[in-house]
Amino acid sequence: MLGLLGRTLLALAGLAGAGWLSGYPLTFLLLGSWGLLAWHLYQLVRLERELAKGKDWRIQDVGGLWGEVYSQLFKLQKQYEQRERLLKGTLGKFREAIAAVPDAAVALDDSDAVLWANQAAERLLGLHMPQDSGQRLANLVRHPAFVAFLGSAGGEEGVEFPAPSESGRILHARLIPYGQGQRLLIATDITRMHRLEQVRRDFVANVSHELRTPLTVINGYLETLLDSDDPCIERWQRPLRGMAQQSGRMLHIIEDLLMLSRLENDAERRPEKAVAMPELLAALAEDAIALSGERGHQVQVAADPGLWVQGCEKEIRSACANLVFNAVRHTPAGSRVEIRWFVDEQGCPCLQVADNGEGIPAQHIPRLTERFYRVDKGRQRESGGTGLGLAIVKHVMQRHGGQLGIISQLGVGSTFTCRFPAERRRMSPGKSALG
Ligand code: ADP
Repeated sequence: MLGLLGRTLLALAGLAGAGWLSGYPLTFLLLGSWGLLAWHLYQLVRLERELAKGKDWRIQDVGGLWGEVYSQLFKLQKQYEQRERLLKGTLGKFREAIAAVPDAAVALDDSDAVLWANQAAERLLGLHMPQDSGQRLANLVRHPAFVAFLGSAGGEEGVEFPAPSESGRILHARLIPYGQGQRLLIATDITRMHRLEQVRRDFVANVSHELRTPLTVINGYLETLLDSDDPCIERWQRPLRGMAQQSGRMLHIIEDLLMLSRLENDAERRPEKAVAMPELLAALAEDAIALSGERGHQVQVAADPGLWVQGCEKEIRSACANLVFNAVRHTPAGSRVEIRWFVDEQGCPCLQVADNGEGIPAQHIPRLTERFYRVDKGRQRESGGTGLGLAIVKHVMQRHGGQLGIISQLGVGSTFTCRFPAERRRMSPGKSALG
């Protein structure tokens, strides 16, 4: 800029000199300034026209200040083109990498319209790119569970659904938020895992089924022998009683395994009705007192008399029984067990089984609903449980769209809460539900 100033001042000084010599310095200065202004305006208009051509603009054959402006612009454009080439190369490589990923990846905008999808998405989700770009994904993949998942915030667990492109193929989808309101959908083919899981379930169900009959027979004979008055049985009483106890336990485990298999088999429809919970809980409380026997647990029931729940009675009874009997089995003699049945603030029917036993160490709580998980393995096997009780409760609650919550504090006790969805709330005939 100093160069420009110097040159301009020099030109003006020359003009002033010429004007002074001719006797009209001001006129010369004025005409000279206009001339300079006109020249710069002309160069500006030329530059504007060149730049309007976009990438095809040309350096004008001009020296001085305007020559410098053109060469700076040219340098900037070269740098920009180099950066663009670099970015395109990186983007190309990134796209190649994403395209090679075996999982389907679909980028969605804030209204869940497809921005971009890789090859696996075309294969697994049946998308056609670029034709489907801009279409809402829910209109392209229409499975109800998938559409509901897309509409939700996209929980961490994701959703399983059959692949629209190929029958028998199962996909698992997750949504990952990014940018401003955009989401990335990742769908993985889990057909193999699904089949293995099915094989495992069938195996457990078949083995349990096959073992049930012989065990029932053995158990029956053992009980007959124990009931017999035959004097030669007398000396075998102790081993026979031990055998009857163990075979009874095995039978109990098998019944629970079969129950879990039935619960896991989603295809099986179970009968649902309004379940009279206050009566069911009162009966369970009596059974719990009988189970406690000489250990003298104090079992109390506080149930809303007008509150029933819609569901499968057999499953709900099993869930409640597991919680109530656990509270007796896993607490010291004389402990207090409170069974509460009420509607919470959100209008959801809740069953709460609280005890003032020893409580459960915090690190065990997340794992309690795993099959055969026990806090104190040796002691609790003696307590008569199968190790499957809480797994059953969790599955029953899942099947009814509810949740199992566990709160426990060492030395204070444990509270197990089964929360059913509000729409399952029913009123007992002739009574109105409180709350
Ligand atoms: P189990 O047949 O052993 O009772 P569950 O699945 O019902 O199996 O329970 C798993 C474990 O959770 C139990 O072995 C016990 O350690 C613990 N548990 C369950 N209920 C209670 C409770 N009310 N108080 C303390 N521990 C409990």
